[in-house]
Amino acid sequence: MPRSEAARPSSAVNAERWAAAHDRLVRTLVELIRIPSVNPPDPPGPELDAARAIAALLAASGVHATVYEPTPGRGSVVARLRGDGTGGEPLLLLAHLDVVPASADRWTHDPFGGEIADGYVYGRGAVDMKDLVAMEIEVVRMLADDARAAGLDPATDAIPGLRRDILLAVTADEEAGGLDGIGWLADHHPEHLRAAGALNESGGVSLEIAGRRLYPIQVAEKGYAVYKITVHGTWGHGSMPRPDNAAVMAAEAIRRLAVPGTPRVTPVMRTFFEAAAAALGGEAATLLRAMTSGDAGRAEAAIDRLCTPVYARAARALLRDTVSPNVIHAGVKYNVIPGEAVIEVDCRLLPGTDEPAMRAEIEVRLGPDLVAASTIELVTTMPPVVASIDSPLYRTLERAILDGDPDGIPLPVMAPFATDAKTLMRLGVPAYGFSPLRLAPEESYLERYHGVDERVGLDALRWGLPVLYDAVLRFCG
Ligand SMILES: [Zn+2]
Repeated sequence: MPRSEAARPSSAVNAERWAAAHDRLVRTLVELIRIPSVNPPDPPGPELDAARAIAALLAASGVHATVYEPTPGRGSVVARLRGDGTGGEPLLLLAHLDVVPASADRWTHDPFGGEIADGYVYGRGAVDMKDLVAMEIEVVRMLADDARAAGLDPATDAIPGLRRDILLAVTADEEAGGLDGIGWLADHHPEHLRAAGALNESGGVSLEIAGRRLYPIQVAEKGYAVYKITVHGTWGHGSMPRPDNAAVMAAEAIRRLAVPGTPRVTPVMRTFFEAAAAALGGEAATLLRAMTSGDAGRAEAAIDRLCTPVYARAARALLRDTVSPNVIHAGVKYNVIPGEAVIEVDCRLLPGTDEPAMRAEIEVRLGPDLVAASTIELVTTMPPVVASIDSPLYRTLERAILDGDPDGIPLPVMAPFATDAKTLMRLGVPAYGFSPLRLAPEESYLERYHGVDERVGLDALRWGLPVLYDAVLRFCG
């Protein structure tokens, strides 16, 4: 029998053990949320504390973990479970341990308290992404516990049933580009990252549309290019306004830059919309097909009709290269006409758009008059990444979702933002966003990212852990 049709590996784990694993997972998540591993770190330290806490949790199950501290106070942690080596390259379980800041005054629970209320674990990192950190740790611990129960040492012996190694890497600094986290590991210890494929954040989370649960698995993410545009005008006295006031010119530049671009349907998003349309049928299918019709007006109307505002923003971002002017500096004093203004622009690139093409688009939007009056500098850029959906790992993830929710619809999707997957792609390791959670229909998961009252449901975790366990065991077993 092919592996993909074999019984769910998780069915060999009894209910009592799943309950204990869930409880331990929640304790891990709470412990990690209580470590304020905020990025940018001020002062550094909590990221290292989090890495050490993870190493200690793994050590409690006999797993040897290594903590690296490339910059004082900032740590990443890696570990390896050995397979018997007959199954091919390892599977990498990747996660980041840093979080974005949270100001407690707008929260109903302490963002770093790890409080459990109303069926949720509250706290910064609950979905981005200490939840998956805790789930990945729990899968590793369950396998290590099995080995120890069989009289083996998981630090050195092969784990029974594993044919590939499992790598765990939980890194610092993802929220600021990853240079002090996965970037450093990729440069200095790529052996901890080299794998047949990686499981990473932000996919495999249920999204209910027209009464059906879709499980978008992230297989691609947009690239980015950040530009600093300096608009040159003429300094002067505020009492005598002039049209080449750099602030006025910058305002016009921003107006031109911020128009929505032309939609373009990439192969990943075409597959997503077509798979969703085929599964949903009815009016939803008509609307989903309209989104990829190439008719911008019909696509816009369909997005408004089918999507909540937050998902509408995501859909629009996934159908075009985006340009968001996010920083503006001009002026020194109220009565001095500024001769210079600076605009920082965040551009996100679809697969198929490279940085020179994005820059050309910026120049088209600005128009010849403003291009002539401006200096455009590239601040930073990373290309889009795409992992194959025609791969054993992707098919394993689909299978694991369907085993966990036979009515669910797994399908590939792109993320509008960037993750550590970009660095992995440099090593030739394809990354799949797979953080399986089954949410209540009314939940709006995307809004929880970096949001106020970030939280994850206990039931969602209870569903997700066996699904992640299945995915890992099906691929590695
Ligand atoms: Zn994240």
